Order: sequence, then C-alpha cells, then structure tokens
Amino acid sequence: MKRDDLIDPYISGNKWRKLKYILQDAKNKGKKHLVTFGGAYSNHLVATAAAAARAGLKATAFVRGEEVMNEMLVLCKLYGMRLIFTDRESYREKRTCYDQHFATDPDAYFIDEGGASAEAVAGCAELIDELKFSNPDHIFCAAGTGTTAAGLLKGIQETGLKTKLHVIPVLKGGDFIKEEISTYTALTENLVLHTEYHFGGYAKTQPALISFIQRFTATQGILIDPVYTAKMCFAIEDLAGKNYFSPDEKIIAIHTGGLLGIMGMKEKLSQTAF
Ligand SMILES: *Cc1c(COP(=O)(O)O)cnc(C)c1O
Repeated sequence: MKRDDLIDPYISGNKWRKLKYILQDAKNKGKKHLVTFGGAYSNHLVATAAAAARAGLKATAFVRGEEVMNEMLVLCKLYGMRLIFTDRESYREKRTCYDQHFATDPDAYFIDEGGASAEAVAGCAELIDELKFSNPDHIFCAAGTGTTAAGLLKGIQETGLKTKLHVIPVLKGGDFIKEEISTYTALTENLVLHTEYHFGGYAKTQPALISFIQRFTATQGILIDPVYTAKMCFAIEDLAGKNYFSPDEKIIAIHTGGLLGIMGMKEKLSQTAF
C-alpha cells in the first residue's frame, strides 16, 4: 500500500498532490485568495483551508446545500476559511457563484470542485515516479471525479511501465470516469475500470462494506475511509478471491487519505459487527 494518507493529517493523500501545482500557479499569478467548492464533508475543502493557511493565503468555499456544521467544516473554519452555503441549484453554476462574489477581485483564484484541473493531474502523475523501481503489475485507486486516476495513468504512460491502473469509481454509473480521464490523457490499455464496487453510490455504504472496514482496520492496523479507500480495498480483496491476479504479481493500492470521512459515518462505523 502506498501510504499517501501519511503525507499530512489534513492536506491528505491525493488532495495534497492535487493542490501542489494549483498553489504554485496561484502564487505565480500573484493571487492571494483561493476560492473553491465542495460538499459539507469534502476532503478537498479541509485540504484547501489548511494549505491556504500555511501558504499565507485567504480561502473561501462555496459549500453545497443548506447551512450545517460538522467536524470537517469546523476544521475549515479554524484554518480561517470563509464558508458560503449555497443551495444546490445555484451551486451547479460554479462560475456564476464565483463571478457574483469575486469577478472584480484581482486577488481571487478559482479552484474547481475537488481541485479538478491539469495542474492536479500533473501533481498526481508524480506519484508514479515514487513507485517505478518497484515495477508493479497492478496499481489500484479510488475515483470520485477521476482527476487522480488521470494523473496516475499519465504517470504510467510517461514512465513507460506496463502496469495496469485499476480504477474503482465510488459513484454509481462510474463509466463517466473514462470520459473525464480522456480530457487529460489518452485511454490506453493500461486503464481498467471496475464499476461494480460503488455500494449504492457516493458516500453510500452497505453492511458488507462496514464490516469489511472494521475487519480490515483491526487486522491490518491501517485506517481506511468509508467513501473512497474502503471501496478500493474491498475490490482488491474481492478480485483476489476470484483469482483475478496470478500469485507472483505485484499489486500496489494507493491510500489516497480522506480519513476524516470516518467522522461523517461515526454512528454506522461504531456499530459492532463482530
Ligand atoms: C477526493 C478523494 C478521492 C477522489 O479523487 P478524484 O481525483 O476526485 O477522483 C479519492 N480518495 C480520497 C480519500 C479522496 O479524498
């Protein structure tokens, strides 16, 4: 397992990689105020808030839905992020939201939901450099928007590895990930999409996933989050059980972080299953 969850407790995993060149671009352009978008349990919002505070930048987030407070948003506020709760319909038009508040602000810098951008793809591609000497047969990652997967695929292609990149969309109907990836890099045969491990959709769980998380954490000593990394780990175990891999193959799972997501499901996860 590639432990990107250990990069930082709050700018964790792929969110750190995605923000690296976004922050650099903002700085190069002399911007002082990061403006971004996310749901109330968005790992991207916490990561952006923490990264902005450390870089001496201001941060504002448009938060989808009515006003709420939870563990993630408390952290955002502590890091000094301003939160603008936005109804779902207005939220869909992100550029309009941005322009209404920041069109004339020369300091403001637009960051798409989840950080989706070419800069994010470049940041995620660097992960492959850290793996190339272990020459894995398979790399697994979870996907929300597919930006991270696009970066990993690009990294594999640039390095010339034969590695298969197995992507586990955590949303229902995950075939759209292919389209997202193709906006950043070619869809080569390195890419394998497994669309059947969404457990009902984004942030949805089923008892089998909850007991998997409990058993995995207790036996491996590694925390995984219920929204992303648990679905990926479940998929690897399931495929292994179906003899999908040969015994000598090397498999690397990318732990993309997101452990604060546990807080969003603390009731479910604390029910004892064994
Ligand atoms: C955001 C996130 C992802 C999904 O990344 P995308 O680039 O949107 O596909 C995966 N894992 C974790 C832990 C995340 O926080």
